[in-house]
Amino acid sequence: MKDDYALVLNAGSSSLKFCVFERPVGERWHLESRGQIEGIGTAPRLSVKDEIGHSLVKKDVPAKDGSEAIAALAEWLRSMYGGSRVLGVGHRVVHGGARFSGPTIIDAEVMKELHQLVPLAPLHQPYNLAAIEAVFERLPNVPQVACFDTSFHRGQPEVAELIPLPRELREQGLQRYGFHGLSYEHIATVLPLFAPEIANGRVIVAHLGSGASMCALNDRKSVDSTLGFTALDGLCMGTRPGALDPGVVLHLFQGLNLSAKEVETLLYKKSGLVGISGISNDMRDLLGREEPAARLAVDYFVYRAAREIGALTAVLGGVDGIVFTAGIGENSPEIRQRICDASAWLGLEIDADVNAKVKDQTKISTSRSKAAVWVIPTNEELMIARHTGALLGLSAKAAWNEQGD
Ligand code: AMP
Repeated sequence: MKDDYALVLNAGSSSLKFCVFERPVGERWHLESRGQIEGIGTAPRLSVKDEIGHSLVKKDVPAKDGSEAIAALAEWLRSMYGGSRVLGVGHRVVHGGARFSGPTIIDAEVMKELHQLVPLAPLHQPYNLAAIEAVFERLPNVPQVACFDTSFHRGQPEVAELIPLPRELREQGLQRYGFHGLSYEHIATVLPLFAPEIANGRVIVAHLGSGASMCALNDRKSVDSTLGFTALDGLCMGTRPGALDPGVVLHLFQGLNLSAKEVETLLYKKSGLVGISGISNDMRDLLGREEPAARLAVDYFVYRAAREIGALTAVLGGVDGIVFTAGIGENSPEIRQRICDASAWLGLEIDADVNAKVKDQTKISTSRSKAAVWVIPTNEELMIARHTGALLGLSAKAAWNEQGD
């Protein structure tokens, strides 16, 4: 490839996911490759696929931290796309706080503000920002864009964003922000194409992955979601507990004398599925286990999901559709079936055969179901690419090739 390209980065604590979008001669953007470096700091390995899913490379790379991972990625990009220009880099940034209600071109002042949000998302924000800094070091003249997981939720009703604490605290930014916004935005964008009958109605999107949340969409706009001030609220997650009585946190400090760091680690890394099971944070792993603790973890995950569907149905005043997405939502027929069974009071009915064979976007409810149930793959990277292209003037009228999603 000798055409210029835009790069999308999603940097986590131990992985760096990326997509390369080619800039073609015409207006249509094209996904060139998608890959990741996993095991950063332990056993780093680069794997990349082309736009139709064929493997381009799988190899060990030296990457003991995020900066080295960027260097390893840069080397692979050079070997693959040498002679091309990087037009812009779009990043997933988990927390945009109160100020950033949309994608933003990154400069030193923006970085300063984003660093102040690190305590609100300690599991993600530092790694997102480290990747931006590493790119600035290597490619100081390439524009970078931050796309936030919180932005899509701005504009929710005041009561949905409110944290009922005294005003002086709220004025310092204590409010419910919501997360997984790039995923929800993607679903909201494709709903009219795949599921026009529900697109403008009341839809609950269940983003069930290692991090998990739900979003209530009314006419494709977020009106509430299960994550709040930080990414700890709502559903049970791989390593996070979801909704928790704040008295528990007080007890951890006052009764058990844990330090702030210990409580942070407990809440972000040792709770949820791994905390309940004592075995794994990985749903696929837990579903294959017989141990009672593994079953309890899955039972709680399903219980909590059904409970939040009930709550968001109340917020919406009824529900026309439910969409499952992300790792668990897209890939686990069992979890989808169990959540729908637990929500049978809504009149949901799933076709077990269709549910077992989902591929790409699929309607899994029967014609008798009172609400349509869909599985729709998410594509946060595509949303980032679109925003980056639009903001940098790369793609005024661009249509993006969604092949390989
Ligand atoms: P994500 O964070 O969206 O990549 O999702 C990761 C989660 O999806 C992990 O808990 C995986 O175990 C889970 N997952 C992926 N594939 C499957 C599957 N076939 N069945 C159950 N869970 C799965």
